[in-house]
Amino acid sequence: MVSLKPPVIDGHIDTALQILREPRKFAERSKFGHCDLPRMKDANVQAALFAIESGYTMESLITSIDIWFKLVSNPENQLFQIKKIDDFNRARDSEHIGALLHFEGVSGMDDELKLLRIGYQLGLRSMGLTWSNVNKFATGVRVTTKRQRKTGITDLGRKLVREAQTLGVTIDVSHLNDTSFWDLYEITEKPIIATHSNVRSVSNHIRNLTNEQIKAIHEKHGTIGINFCMKFLDPEHPYEEYTNLGLDVIKKHIDHIVNLADINTVALGSDFDGTSVPNCVRDCTKLPNLWEYLLENGYSEQDINKITHENLLRVFKETW
Ligand SMILES: [Zn+2]
Repeated sequence: MVSLKPPVIDGHIDTALQILREPRKFAERSKFGHCDLPRMKDANVQAALFAIESGYTMESLITSIDIWFKLVSNPENQLFQIKKIDDFNRARDSEHIGALLHFEGVSGMDDELKLLRIGYQLGLRSMGLTWSNVNKFATGVRVTTKRQRKTGITDLGRKLVREAQTLGVTIDVSHLNDTSFWDLYEITEKPIIATHSNVRSVSNHIRNLTNEQIKAIHEKHGTIGINFCMKFLDPEHPYEEYTNLGLDVIKKHIDHIVNLADINTVALGSDFDGTSVPNCVRDCTKLPNLWEYLLENGYSEQDINKITHENLLRVFKETW
Protein backbone atom coordinates (compact mmCIF):
# COMPACT_ATOMS: atom_id res chain seq x y z
CA MET A 1 0.00 0.00 0.00
CA VAL A 2 1.21 3.52 -0.83
CA SER A 3 1.80 5.89 2.01
CA LEU A 4 0.20 9.20 1.23
CA LYS A 5 0.51 11.99 3.74
CA PRO A 6 -0.38 15.29 2.09
CA PRO A 7 -0.51 18.35 4.34
CA VAL A 8 -4.00 18.58 5.82
CA ILE A 9 -6.04 21.60 6.82
CA ASP A 10 -9.03 20.24 8.72
CA GLY A 11 -11.96 22.64 8.34
CA HIS A 12 -13.67 21.62 11.57
CA ILE A 13 -12.57 20.04 14.82
CA ASP A 14 -14.13 20.48 18.26
CA THR A 15 -10.99 19.54 20.18
CA ALA A 16 -10.59 22.90 21.99
CA LEU A 17 -13.72 22.45 24.11
CA GLN A 18 -14.10 18.68 23.96
CA ILE A 19 -10.69 17.96 25.49
CA LEU A 20 -11.89 19.52 28.76
CA ARG A 21 -14.54 16.80 29.10
CA GLU A 22 -12.06 13.93 28.84
CA PRO A 23 -9.13 12.90 31.01
CA ARG A 24 -6.45 13.80 28.50
CA LYS A 25 -3.98 16.50 27.52
CA PHE A 26 -3.59 17.88 24.00
CA ALA A 27 0.20 17.49 24.13
CA GLU A 28 0.01 13.78 24.94
CA ARG A 29 -1.09 10.86 22.78
CA SER A 30 -4.37 9.57 24.12
CA LYS A 31 -6.66 6.67 23.38
CA PHE A 32 -9.59 9.00 23.99
CA GLY A 33 -11.01 11.49 21.51
CA HIS A 34 -9.90 11.97 17.92
CA CYS A 35 -7.16 14.61 17.89
CA ASP A 36 -4.11 15.53 19.92
CA LEU A 37 -0.67 16.86 19.07
CA PRO A 38 1.11 13.53 18.46
CA ARG A 39 -1.77 12.07 16.44
CA MET A 40 -2.21 15.22 14.33
CA LYS A 41 1.52 15.19 13.59
CA ASP A 42 1.27 11.51 12.59
CA ALA A 43 -1.42 12.38 10.05
CA ASN A 44 0.41 15.50 8.81
CA VAL A 45 -2.43 17.76 9.90
CA GLN A 46 -0.75 21.13 9.54
CA ALA A 47 -3.66 23.32 10.57
CA ALA A 48 -7.27 23.11 11.65
CA LEU A 49 -10.22 25.31 12.41
CA PHE A 50 -10.50 24.79 16.16
CA ALA A 51 -14.17 25.57 16.70
CA ILE A 52 -15.70 27.03 19.85
CA GLU A 53 -19.37 27.24 20.73
CA SER A 54 -20.77 30.61 21.56
CA GLY A 55 -23.49 29.61 24.02
CA TYR A 56 -26.36 32.06 24.42
CA THR A 57 -24.71 34.95 26.23
CA MET A 58 -21.74 37.24 25.75
CA GLU A 59 -20.34 35.80 28.97
CA SER A 60 -20.42 32.24 27.58
CA LEU A 61 -18.81 33.32 24.31
CA ILE A 62 -16.03 35.09 26.22
CA THR A 63 -15.54 31.97 28.38
CA SER A 64 -15.13 29.83 25.24
CA ILE A 65 -12.60 32.30 23.80
CA ASP A 66 -10.65 32.15 27.06
CA ILE A 67 -10.56 28.33 26.95
CA TRP A 68 -9.39 28.47 23.32
CA PHE A 69 -6.48 30.76 24.19
CA LYS A 70 -5.50 28.63 27.19
CA LEU A 71 -5.11 25.69 24.79
CA VAL A 72 -3.35 27.58 22.00
CA SER A 73 -1.00 29.67 24.13
CA ASN A 74 0.28 26.74 26.21
CA PRO A 75 3.80 26.16 24.75
CA GLU A 76 3.72 22.40 25.36
CA ASN A 77 0.77 22.13 22.96
CA GLN A 78 2.94 23.39 20.07
CA LEU A 79 0.09 25.27 18.47
CA PHE A 80 0.55 28.36 16.36
CA GLN A 81 -2.33 30.76 15.83
CA ILE A 82 -3.11 31.43 12.19
CA LYS A 83 -4.24 34.97 11.42
CA LYS A 84 -2.98 35.48 7.88
CA ILE A 85 -2.22 33.30 4.87
CA ASP A 86 1.54 33.42 5.45
CA ASP A 87 0.99 31.87 8.88
CA PHE A 88 0.16 28.52 7.26
CA ASN A 89 3.75 28.39 5.99
CA ARG A 90 5.12 29.66 9.28
CA ALA A 91 3.23 26.97 11.17
CA ARG A 92 4.56 24.30 8.82
CA ASP A 93 8.16 25.56 9.04
CA SER A 94 8.02 25.81 12.82
CA GLU A 95 6.65 22.28 13.07
CA HIS A 96 3.78 23.65 15.11
CA ILE A 97 0.18 22.96 14.20
CA GLY A 98 -1.74 25.99 12.96
CA ALA A 99 -4.90 26.82 14.89
CA LEU A 100 -7.63 29.04 13.47
CA LEU A 101 -10.18 30.57 15.80
CA HIS A 102 -13.64 29.62 14.52
CA PHE A 103 -16.95 30.58 16.13
CA GLU A 104 -19.49 27.80 15.65
CA GLY A 105 -22.53 30.03 15.98
CA VAL A 106 -22.67 33.51 17.42
CA SER A 107 -25.79 33.46 19.61
CA GLY A 108 -23.81 35.18 22.37
CA MET A 109 -22.72 38.05 20.10
CA ASP A 110 -23.92 41.53 21.11
CA ASP A 111 -26.21 43.65 18.90
CA GLU A 112 -23.53 46.28 18.28
CA LEU A 113 -21.14 43.56 17.04
CA LYS A 114 -18.42 44.63 19.47
CA LEU A 115 -17.44 41.00 19.94
CA LEU A 116 -17.06 40.60 16.18
CA ARG A 117 -14.53 43.44 16.00
CA ILE A 118 -12.75 42.36 19.19
CA GLY A 119 -12.88 38.76 17.97
CA TYR A 120 -11.26 39.79 14.71
CA GLN A 121 -8.43 41.50 16.60
CA LEU A 122 -7.98 38.27 18.55
CA GLY A 123 -7.70 36.31 15.31
CA LEU A 124 -11.28 35.26 14.53
CA ARG A 125 -11.12 34.27 10.85
CA SER A 126 -14.16 32.05 10.32
CA MET A 127 -17.66 31.79 11.78
CA GLY A 128 -21.12 30.35 11.39
CA LEU A 129 -24.14 32.42 12.36
CA THR A 130 -25.88 29.77 14.43
CA TRP A 131 -25.29 26.35 15.91
CA SER A 132 -28.55 24.86 14.56
CA ASN A 133 -30.75 27.05 16.78
CA VAL A 134 -32.70 30.25 16.10
CA ASN A 135 -30.95 33.42 17.23
CA LYS A 136 -31.15 37.13 16.47
CA PHE A 137 -28.93 36.73 13.40
CA ALA A 138 -30.22 33.62 11.59
CA THR A 139 -32.17 30.37 11.82
CA GLY A 140 -30.43 27.03 12.08
CA VAL A 141 -31.49 23.55 11.00
CA ARG A 142 -32.93 22.52 14.34
CA VAL A 143 -36.28 24.27 14.05
CA THR A 144 -39.63 22.79 14.94
CA THR A 145 -42.34 25.02 13.51
CA LYS A 146 -43.27 25.68 9.90
CA ARG A 147 -42.88 29.40 10.51
CA GLN A 148 -39.30 28.91 11.76
CA ARG A 149 -38.46 26.94 8.64
CA LYS A 150 -39.32 30.04 6.63
CA THR A 151 -37.26 32.45 8.74
CA GLY A 152 -33.75 33.12 7.56
CA ILE A 153 -31.14 35.79 8.14
CA THR A 154 -32.43 38.85 10.03
CA ASP A 155 -31.52 42.49 9.36
CA LEU A 156 -29.01 42.27 12.20
CA GLY A 157 -27.64 39.06 10.65
CA ARG A 158 -27.16 40.83 7.33
CA LYS A 159 -25.27 43.61 9.11
CA LEU A 160 -23.10 40.97 10.80
CA VAL A 161 -22.31 39.21 7.50
CA ARG A 162 -21.43 42.50 5.79
CA GLU A 163 -19.17 43.66 8.59
CA ALA A 164 -17.54 40.24 9.02
CA GLN A 165 -16.78 39.97 5.30
CA THR A 166 -15.41 43.51 5.23
CA LEU A 167 -13.10 42.67 8.13
CA GLY A 168 -12.01 39.40 6.51
CA VAL A 169 -13.88 36.68 8.40
CA THR A 170 -14.98 33.69 6.27
CA ILE A 171 -18.68 32.83 6.62
CA ASP A 172 -19.67 29.21 7.24
CA VAL A 173 -23.09 27.85 6.16
CA SER A 174 -23.01 24.53 8.08
CA HIS A 175 -25.87 24.45 10.63
CA LEU A 176 -27.97 27.07 8.76
CA ASN A 177 -31.49 26.15 7.70
CA ASP A 178 -32.30 26.28 3.99
CA THR A 179 -33.92 29.74 4.15
CA SER A 180 -30.87 31.24 5.90
CA PHE A 181 -28.62 29.53 3.36
CA TRP A 182 -30.39 31.18 0.43
CA ASP A 183 -30.49 34.55 2.21
CA LEU A 184 -26.74 34.29 2.66
CA TYR A 185 -26.29 33.26 -0.97
CA GLU A 186 -28.00 36.51 -2.01
CA ILE A 187 -26.10 38.87 0.28
CA THR A 188 -22.61 37.38 0.29
CA GLU A 189 -19.92 39.24 -1.57
CA LYS A 190 -17.28 36.59 -0.96
CA PRO A 191 -16.97 32.81 -1.32
CA ILE A 192 -18.88 30.91 1.39
CA ILE A 193 -17.90 27.60 2.93
CA ALA A 194 -19.73 24.69 4.48
CA THR A 195 -17.02 23.77 6.98
CA HIS A 196 -18.55 20.40 7.90
CA SER A 197 -21.54 19.20 5.88
CA ASN A 198 -22.22 16.35 3.45
CA VAL A 199 -24.57 15.62 0.55
CA ARG A 200 -28.30 15.36 1.24
CA SER A 201 -29.10 13.32 -1.87
CA VAL A 202 -26.56 10.69 -0.75
CA SER A 203 -27.62 10.83 2.89
CA ASN A 204 -30.95 12.46 3.65
CA HIS A 205 -30.06 14.44 6.76
CA ILE A 206 -31.08 18.04 7.38
CA ARG A 207 -27.43 18.99 8.18
CA ASN A 208 -26.40 17.95 4.67
CA LEU A 209 -26.57 20.13 1.58
CA THR A 210 -29.09 19.89 -1.27
CA ASN A 211 -27.83 19.64 -4.86
CA GLU A 212 -28.86 23.26 -5.46
CA GLN A 213 -26.88 24.38 -2.41
CA ILE A 214 -23.81 22.46 -3.58
CA LYS A 215 -24.04 24.17 -6.97
CA ALA A 216 -24.49 27.54 -5.27
CA ILE A 217 -21.37 27.08 -3.10
CA HIS A 218 -19.46 26.09 -6.23
CA GLU A 219 -20.75 29.15 -8.08
CA LYS A 220 -19.46 31.34 -5.23
CA HIS A 221 -16.05 29.57 -5.39
CA GLY A 222 -16.50 28.12 -1.91
CA THR A 223 -15.80 24.68 -0.44
CA ILE A 224 -17.66 21.87 1.30
CA GLY A 225 -15.83 20.07 4.10
CA ILE A 226 -16.61 16.35 4.20
CA ASN A 227 -17.92 15.46 7.66
CA PHE A 228 -17.29 12.03 9.26
CA CYS A 229 -20.37 12.15 11.51
CA MET A 230 -21.99 8.73 11.01
CA LYS A 231 -25.51 10.15 10.86
CA PHE A 232 -24.51 12.59 8.13
CA LEU A 233 -22.67 9.90 6.17
CA ASP A 234 -25.51 7.40 6.21
CA PRO A 235 -28.62 7.81 8.40
CA GLU A 236 -30.24 4.63 7.03
CA HIS A 237 -28.17 2.27 9.16
CA PRO A 238 -29.17 1.24 12.65
CA TYR A 239 -26.79 2.71 15.17
CA GLU A 240 -24.77 -0.44 15.89
CA GLU A 241 -23.89 -0.81 12.19
CA TYR A 242 -22.68 2.77 11.88
CA THR A 243 -19.24 2.03 13.22
CA ASN A 244 -18.54 -0.31 10.32
CA LEU A 245 -19.28 2.21 7.59
CA GLY A 246 -16.45 2.05 5.08
CA LEU A 247 -14.34 4.59 3.22
CA ASP A 248 -16.59 3.94 0.19
CA VAL A 249 -19.42 5.80 1.95
CA ILE A 250 -17.19 8.85 2.47
CA LYS A 251 -16.11 8.64 -1.16
CA LYS A 252 -19.78 8.63 -2.30
CA HIS A 253 -20.21 12.13 -0.85
CA ILE A 254 -16.97 13.34 -2.44
CA ASP A 255 -17.91 11.82 -5.83
CA HIS A 256 -21.29 13.51 -5.77
CA ILE A 257 -19.81 16.97 -5.11
CA VAL A 258 -17.20 16.43 -7.83
CA ASN A 259 -19.89 15.36 -10.34
CA LEU A 260 -22.25 18.19 -9.48
CA ALA A 261 -19.63 20.92 -8.98
CA ASP A 262 -15.94 20.03 -9.29
CA ILE A 263 -12.88 18.87 -7.39
CA ASN A 264 -12.16 22.50 -6.41
CA THR A 265 -15.26 22.46 -4.19
CA VAL A 266 -14.29 19.52 -1.93
CA ALA A 267 -12.48 20.00 1.38
CA LEU A 268 -12.25 18.26 4.74
CA GLY A 269 -14.28 19.12 7.86
CA SER A 270 -13.95 15.95 9.91
CA ASP A 271 -15.96 17.09 12.97
CA PHE A 272 -13.37 15.17 15.00
CA ASP A 273 -13.93 15.45 18.75
CA GLY A 274 -17.45 16.72 18.08
CA THR A 275 -19.28 13.62 16.91
CA SER A 276 -19.28 9.82 16.57
CA VAL A 277 -17.25 8.60 13.60
CA PRO A 278 -16.94 5.19 11.91
CA ASN A 279 -13.96 2.92 12.65
CA CYS A 280 -12.40 3.53 9.24
CA VAL A 281 -11.65 7.12 10.34
CA ARG A 282 -11.73 6.46 14.07
CA ASP A 283 -9.24 9.24 14.77
CA CYS A 284 -7.09 11.62 12.75
CA THR A 285 -4.28 9.07 12.34
CA LYS A 286 -6.61 7.21 9.93
CA LEU A 287 -6.75 10.12 7.47
CA PRO A 288 -3.91 8.76 5.29
CA ASN A 289 -6.03 5.61 4.72
CA LEU A 290 -8.73 7.79 3.18
CA TRP A 291 -6.23 9.56 0.90
CA GLU A 292 -4.80 6.20 -0.15
CA TYR A 293 -8.29 4.83 -0.81
CA LEU A 294 -9.11 7.82 -3.01
CA LEU A 295 -5.80 7.42 -4.86
CA GLU A 296 -6.59 3.77 -5.55
CA ASN A 297 -10.10 4.64 -6.73
CA GLY A 298 -9.83 7.27 -9.41
CA TYR A 299 -8.44 10.36 -7.71
CA SER A 300 -5.02 11.78 -8.58
CA GLU A 301 -2.47 13.07 -6.09
CA GLN A 302 -3.25 16.55 -7.37
CA ASP A 303 -6.97 16.02 -6.61
CA ILE A 304 -6.13 14.84 -3.11
CA ASN A 305 -3.95 17.89 -2.46
CA LYS A 306 -6.93 20.05 -3.39
CA ILE A 307 -9.19 18.20 -0.96
CA THR A 308 -6.70 18.14 1.90
CA HIS A 309 -5.54 21.77 1.85
CA GLU A 310 -5.40 23.68 -1.43
CA ASN A 311 -9.11 24.41 -1.83
CA LEU A 312 -9.59 25.75 1.68
CA LEU A 313 -6.43 27.82 1.36
CA ARG A 314 -7.78 29.33 -1.87
CA VAL A 315 -11.01 30.39 -0.10
CA PHE A 316 -9.10 31.93 2.80
CA LYS A 317 -6.96 33.88 0.34
CA GLU A 318 -10.14 35.23 -1.28
CA THR A 319 -12.02 36.01 1.92
CA TRP A 320 -9.45 37.32 4.42
ZN1 LIG B 1 -21.09 21.39 14.02
